Amino acid sequence: MRLHQVLTGRHILDQLIDLRRTQWLGRDELEDLQNRKLIQLVEYAYQNVPYYHSLFDQVGFHPSDLKKDKTTFQRIPVLTKEIVRSNQDALQTTEIARQKRMIKVTTSGSTGHPLSFYEDSDFRDRFTAAVQLHLEWAGAELWHKHAYIWGAGFEVKAQQALRTRLIDWEWNRFITNAFLLSDQSLEDFARRVIRERPDVLMGFASSVHNFAHFVRQRPEFEISFKGIITSAEVLLPAVRNYIEETFHCKIFNRYSTRELDGIACECEAHDGLHVSLDCNYVEIIKDGKPAEPGEVGQIIVTNLDNRGMPFIRYQINDEGAWSKSGPCPCGRSSPKMGSVEGRIVDTFLAADGRKVWAGFAGAAYKCLVHPSIRQFQVVQESLDCLTVRIVRDGPVPQENMDQFACAIRRTFGDHVQVCWEFPEEIPVLPSGKHQYAISKLNSKP
Ligand SMILES: [Zn+2]
Repeated sequence: MRLHQVLTGRHILDQLIDLRRTQWLGRDELEDLQNRKLIQLVEYAYQNVPYYHSLFDQVGFHPSDLKKDKTTFQRIPVLTKEIVRSNQDALQTTEIARQKRMIKVTTSGSTGHPLSFYEDSDFRDRFTAAVQLHLEWAGAELWHKHAYIWGAGFEVKAQQALRTRLIDWEWNRFITNAFLLSDQSLEDFARRVIRERPDVLMGFASSVHNFAHFVRQRPEFEISFKGIITSAEVLLPAVRNYIEETFHCKIFNRYSTRELDGIACECEAHDGLHVSLDCNYVEIIKDGKPAEPGEVGQIIVTNLDNRGMPFIRYQINDEGAWSKSGPCPCGRSSPKMGSVEGRIVDTFLAADGRKVWAGFAGAAYKCLVHPSIRQFQVVQESLDCLTVRIVRDGPVPQENMDQFACAIRRTFGDHVQVCWEFPEEIPVLPSGKHQYAISKLNSKP
């Protein structure tokens, strides 16, 4: 890896060493560091990024305001995915030297709407180092074996495939493709896990759930890890328990998006997710004001590292809350998010106008975590009708279905009809992720 760094001019190790150190800083020091980075970013954006230059002028915000009064930051209007899509050029830096170190990234997005953006090499190094830091939290030291169930790309060209294999070798990891999870690929993956004994498994919550389900069907596969990182999807409590029991270890839930880096991750105390203060500035906004601990609001994130295309006050379309618990026993001082309550697009609506988070009923979903149920998806068709799709390996007890329908009616009203479908498979989104809850009443991107 050192050779790789020299050859490619990357600085992942330096960034990792920095992150390992800053995670133990006291809260005041961390906030000072964050403030400094925030001010530098905003100044840079004003000078070098046309979109922000005209936006700041428009709303009467000047970067020097921030030095005197941090609340002025909220004068900057939020950046939506729509704005990113329609201002691709104006959002990029005009600094020529940095432009040369930028690459275009396209994510298919959790909702299946693609988003393109540019990242510079500083951000890319930081991003990679932050993943490694959280792998270390979960039990995989640098270069120790770890495994992924992830949305791997389809390397059509031999050269790309070779490069991918080289990078996997360099990091000492192996990956199975979450796009293509079949009984055969899960079996191959399970055998490799038993052979190579990776310390940590990382994957989309639904893919890891899928793998756990597979392993439970096959008693000859006795598998354990030091820790598991789930990411990119909401982790339902019932699914968490099922996975932890299957693999005899704890889950370290991680909140990240491709355009922002790792935003927060659970530590060994498993009581909320520590926000990476030196990578992102996170706001939770409720009714236009900063939310109190425990109060669910919109998550707005400013990434502090990607100057190539700065994301300032970016609205991710997720909701969450600050943790109410006191100092963390792990010794890290960064604030914690108590919960990330899911994509706003997954918010269900009740007939009386209530918005219901798609993870509305941990108890209800518990009925859908059963040895015969390989995968499920709940679709709100209308205010009066929900469809539950189940991919099953065997008979699903009527009792589970009745309990689920009962929980749905308790939440949405007695008039709601629950329809059951049993397809052969549920297609994943273009990102390779599985969306377990879809509301057709709520189609905001
Ligand atoms: Zn902690």
